[in-house]
Amino acid sequence: MSNLSKPMLVVLGTGFAAFSLLKNLKHGLFNVIVVSPRNHFLFTPLLPSTTVGTIEFRSIIEPIRVGAPYATYYQASCKTINPTEQIIVVQSAMDGRVYDIHYDVLVIGVGAKTNTFGIPGVNEHALFLKELSDARAIRQNIIERFEMAAQLDLDEEERKRLLHVVVVGGGPTGVEFAAEMHDFLSEDLSNIYPALHNYVAITLLEAGNNILTTFDKELSEYTMRLFKRQHIDIRTRSLVTRIGKTVIYLNDGTEIPYGVVVWSTGIGPQDFVVSSPLPLNDGKKIITDERLLVQGYNNIFAAGDCAAIEKNNLPATSQVAQQEGRFLAKQLYRYGKDMPLIPFQYHHYGMLAYVGGNKALADLNLFKGRGFTTWLFWRSAYLTKLVSWKNKILVIFDWLKAIVFGRDVSRF
Ligand SMILES: Cc1cc2nc3c(=O)[nH]c(=O)nc-3n(C[C@H](O)[C@H](O)[C@H](O)COP(=O)(O)OP(=O)(O)OC[C@H]3O[C@@H](n4cnc5c(N)ncnc54)[C@H](O)[C@@H]3O)c2cc1C
Repeated sequence: MSNLSKPMLVVLGTGFAAFSLLKNLKHGLFNVIVVSPRNHFLFTPLLPSTTVGTIEFRSIIEPIRVGAPYATYYQASCKTINPTEQIIVVQSAMDGRVYDIHYDVLVIGVGAKTNTFGIPGVNEHALFLKELSDARAIRQNIIERFEMAAQLDLDEEERKRLLHVVVVGGGPTGVEFAAEMHDFLSEDLSNIYPALHNYVAITLLEAGNNILTTFDKELSEYTMRLFKRQHIDIRTRSLVTRIGKTVIYLNDGTEIPYGVVVWSTGIGPQDFVVSSPLPLNDGKKIITDERLLVQGYNNIFAAGDCAAIEKNNLPATSQVAQQEGRFLAKQLYRYGKDMPLIPFQYHHYGMLAYVGGNKALADLNLFKGRGFTTWLFWRSAYLTKLVSWKNKILVIFDWLKAIVFGRDVSRF
């Protein structure tokens, strides 16, 4: 129930920035409305593990109605902003109705979408890895391809094509998916489909010269060597120009038949951000000042992947978004109490990535590590970062379940 004496705070999004703001917004100075097409928070760092069933889908999400029970939530997308009238226009994700919501203070945390660079066929034939529905589609497709390849009287080449999993993009997400796919194959699929083992291949295509370029060079080279040992074919300087129904075309004329292609080449702006009247930088991110106030406005804040602090180019990571969200909770207290706003300060703790075979990378301020011990560290670090006890316990059970019973390959 809203209190008419309190200003209306509208938060767009339920991702890292918005959710950590909402979890920390305990001062009760505002009536709060949350608008997002997704009614839950998703812990993306463990999303690649759900594509093969190492972790189950529901173990890494938290419903917004549980995480922020004090807020009014609408499952809808923001379409436009009218800053003069202090109104946003939203479209319901349930029945498509369009309606207005008034705000006194607006926080934009709408994230980004997968960048396809306009390459023909990507939207039609490739699978993305951004939302839970994407991970579910990948898992379904992989199991489906194995069942198709196990059918009688199939041409050898066709069997090979069906079982060729191609990952486009050598960043952390693409690498982690390839690693999970390798584990699924070596630990489960080889036993379940022994006759198909020799037909399976995993290829990672990267347009640049190296994979994991945001990591220390030695860690990137270690991953290349490890993938080679795991028979993951890394092809650098391979630019995809088109994706057909069964073939990927590269700029050097190579044609790669595939069964499943996962596209993970970085992020681009949400349509809503591009069409908004707000100031955008060259990368189409909303420009804020160091207080996270959108340039030219005194009641609109922006955070996470959709925003960029002027003259402070921070990476598009959950670490940045989460810190900005937590900071905004404090900033909004100051705002509500008419206190001067303070600048945001980012603390970089480093990066982690899973590379398969119970090995991980850690590129941290204090140490750089790789291998099995780092994998134990990787697991415990993400366990502590999960946002609820329910998530932590479910993930531990999922890990144990995968070790004891293997990953499930049922198709339904
Ligand atoms: C598979 C994967 C693995 C990753 N692993 C890591 C990792 O290991 N470490 C790391 O630091 N980062 C990682 N990232 C990046 C990290 O997820 C993002 O940087 C982070 O989610 C950004 O947070 P955000 O709040 O800006 O956006 P998001 O978390 O993407 O949230 C955006 C929210 O806005 C909502 N939304 C979208 N459009 C609208 C609209 N028009 N109106 C209202 N709401 C809208 C969305 O539904 C969503 O709830 C990973 C990303 C992916 C996809």
